[in-house]
Amino acid sequence: MATASKKNLVIVESPTKVKAIKKFLGSGYEVAASNGHVRDLPKSRMGIDTEHDYEPQYITIRGKGDLLASLRKQAARADRVFLATDPDREGEAISWHLITALKLNDQIKKCSRITFNEITKTAVKESLKHARDIDMHLVDAQQARRVLDRVVGYRISPLLWDKIKRGLSAGRVQSVALRMICDREDEIAAFIPEEYWTLDASLNVAGEKKPLVARYWGDETGKKEIHNKKELDAITTELAGVPFEIKEIKTTERTKKPPLPFTTSTLQQQGASALNFSTQKTMRVAQQLYEGIDLKGQGTVGLITYLRTDSTRISDEAENAVRIYIADQYGDKYVGTLAAPGEKKERIQDAHEAIRPTDVTRTPALVKDSLTREQYKLYQLIWKRFVASRMEAARYETTGVDISAGRHIFHVSATRTVFDGFMNVYTDEENVPEKNVLMKGLKHDTKLTFDAFEEKQHFTAPPAHFTEATLVRDLEAQGIGRPSTYAPTITTILARHYVTKENKNLYVTELGEAVNKIMVENFPDIVDLQFTAQMEQQLDSVADGDTPWKKLIEDFYPDLDAAVAKAEKVLEKVTIADEETDVVCEHCGRHMVIKYGPHGKFLACPGFPECRNTMPYYEKTGVACPKCGQDIVVRKTRKGRRYFGCMNNPECDFMVWQKPSKTKCPQCGALMLEKGGKLVCYDETCGYVCDKPEEEE
Ligand SMILES: [Zn+2]
Ligand SMILES: [Zn+2]
Ligand SMILES: [Zn+2]
Repeated sequence: MATASKKNLVIVESPTKVKAIKKFLGSGYEVAASNGHVRDLPKSRMGIDTEHDYEPQYITIRGKGDLLASLRKQAARADRVFLATDPDREGEAISWHLITALKLNDQIKKCSRITFNEITKTAVKESLKHARDIDMHLVDAQQARRVLDRVVGYRISPLLWDKIKRGLSAGRVQSVALRMICDREDEIAAFIPEEYWTLDASLNVAGEKKPLVARYWGDETGKKEIHNKKELDAITTELAGVPFEIKEIKTTERTKKPPLPFTTSTLQQQGASALNFSTQKTMRVAQQLYEGIDLKGQGTVGLITYLRTDSTRISDEAENAVRIYIADQYGDKYVGTLAAPGEKKERIQDAHEAIRPTDVTRTPALVKDSLTREQYKLYQLIWKRFVASRMEAARYETTGVDISAGRHIFHVSATRTVFDGFMNVYTDEENVPEKNVLMKGLKHDTKLTFDAFEEKQHFTAPPAHFTEATLVRDLEAQGIGRPSTYAPTITTILARHYVTKENKNLYVTELGEAVNKIMVENFPDIVDLQFTAQMEQQLDSVADGDTPWKKLIEDFYPDLDAAVAKAEKVLEKVTIADEETDVVCEHCGRHMVIKYGPHGKFLACPGFPECRNTMPYYEKTGVACPKCGQDIVVRKTRKGRRYFGCMNNPECDFMVWQKPSKTKCPQCGALMLEKGGKLVCYDETCGYVCDKPEEEE
C-alpha cells in the first residue's frame, strides 16, 4: 500500500542496512536492498563479443527476478530514486546495472546516486545533499576488471581441465598469488642453512646480584661473525684470564611514530597476527560493524566506516573529535603533532577514508554488551589503532655499552621508555621496543669480573612461509589487487586446494604446483607480478577517466588469444592426468591411470564406470629409505602439503620435506637432499654440500 508521503526510494546493497537507514531518513523514504549484484555476465558462455567491440552481454542474475519485479514496482511509485550502493567501483557498477534492470533509463531524471562512508544519521542525511549522476569512469573500471577476469578464466581454465582435472580455474590475480607462494616455497626448498655461533660473557658487576650478559661483537677492526667452533675456540682461548672493562657507554634517544589508521590491507594483516582471524573472517566481521549494530537503547548504527579502502585519510570532523577525546582522556601531551602539509600521497579524487570508528567516544567498553566476541575484538583493534594514530610519538632511551676484553669487544644494550605516547593505547609486534635489561648505575669505572662464557651454535633460517597476513602485505606492496580483492583471492586459492593452510602458514599443494607450472610455462604475462601491477594501474586510470576501458581489453585480448592457441599446441603432447602406470587393477586387470583429486594425484581404474576402483598413488623416488631400505615415495600431509616418506609408513616413520637424491654423500655415505641447485647431506653434523649433478636435473 503506497501512501502519499512515501515519495522517495533509497536502494542499498545489503538488507541489514535497511532498518537503520529507514530510521535515519524518516517517513518520506522507502528503503530497499538489491542484495548485491543484479546483473552479470552469463555463466554458460563467455558473454563478451571478442569478434567486434568486446561489448559485455549482461543478463539478470538467476533468482533475482522476483526481487527486481518488486523493486521496479517501488521505483515506479517513487518520485525520486536514490541509488545508495557501496561507495566503491563495485557499488557504482551495481547502481548502474540497477538503472537498466529497473527500467529507469527513460526516466533518468528522477534517479540519482548517493554515497556515504558510514551508516550514521549525519552521513546518510548529508549524502542526500550531494546526490549526483552515476560516475561512468568508476563503472567502466569495474567493467574492465570484470571482463579481464572473465576472459582469463574462460580461455585458460579449459586447458587446465584437459591437462589436470575438470573444474579447475585460472584467475588473473589468483594465479599471481599462487605463483608468489610457489616461488617462496622454491626459495625455502633451495635454502642452505649457514652455521654461526654466538658467544655470551656473563660478568659480575660490583655491588649487583645479577650478572651482566654481554654478547661478542667483534674486535678493534670491526664487527665479526663467528662461523664455526674453531673460530670460537680461538677467541675463548685468547680471552683466558683477560680482564673485561667498560669501554664506552652511549645513550641515545629514539622516537617511534604512531601507526596510520587502518586500510583494508593493514586491517587484514593485524586481524591475522593480533586476533588470529583469516582475511575472510576479518572482512565478514568488519562488514557487520559497518552495516550496523543494534546498540542497547540507541537503535541500529554503523560502528565503523566503509571497510574496503586503501586510504589513510581522516575526515576533518573525525580528526577534531579524536583530538578532543585524547586531550580529555589522556592529557594534552598525548595529542599528536599534526602531519606536515604535503606529506599526503593520496590520490586527490579519493573521497575515501581510512577504516575508523564512526564515533570515537563510543569506546569498546561502552559497546561491548551489544557485540559478539569477534565483533568486540575487531572493533577494539580498529578503535585503538585510530586513537593511537592521532597520538604523540613514543620516546625511548637506548643505552649501549661496549666492553673490551683484550682486543675483543662485547656489547650489551637496554631500552627504557621515556614517554609512552601512542603506545599507551596501541602496540603491535612491530612497535614493541626491545626487552629491558637491568643496567642502572653502570659507570665507566664500574668493576666487572668474568664469570663464564655461554657458547651457542645457530643456523641461518630460510625465508618464512607466507601467511595470509604476509601475502596480503606483499600483494599490496607489489601493487597487485585492490582492497576488494585480497580476501577473495586468498579464499579462492584455498577453496581450489591449490594452497593449504597449516597453523598460519600457506603451503602449495601438488595440484597447485601442477597448475602453477602450466601457467608459468604458457602464460608468463598473466603470472608476471609487474604485468599484473601495471594492469591495476591501468584500471585506476580508467577510474580517473584517463583511459577508455575497452582500450585495456583491446590491448590484452589478442595476446591472450595467441598465448592460448600456442599453449593448446604445446600441451597437446603433454598429459599429466590419465597417464598409464604399471599398477594393475586388482578387480579387473586393467592398468591403473593417474588422476588428480582435491588432495593431489591418485590411481583410478580406466574401466570407470564399470570398475570404480581407486588407490592411493605413491610416486617412487628410486631412493631407498635410510631407516628400513624400502622405497621413498611422495606423500601428502592430511592437508595436502607434499613430503617424502617411506613406502613402509606407518611402520617406518622416515620423512623429509626435500626431495632425496640418488647420489650418496661422498663424505659420510648418508642420504643427500636436493635444495635448489645443490645437494646437501641429510646428516647435519656432516654438513657436506655440492652442486646437483646434471643427470639429476
Ligand atoms: Zn578396475
Ligand atoms: Zn623406511
Ligand atoms: Zn654427509
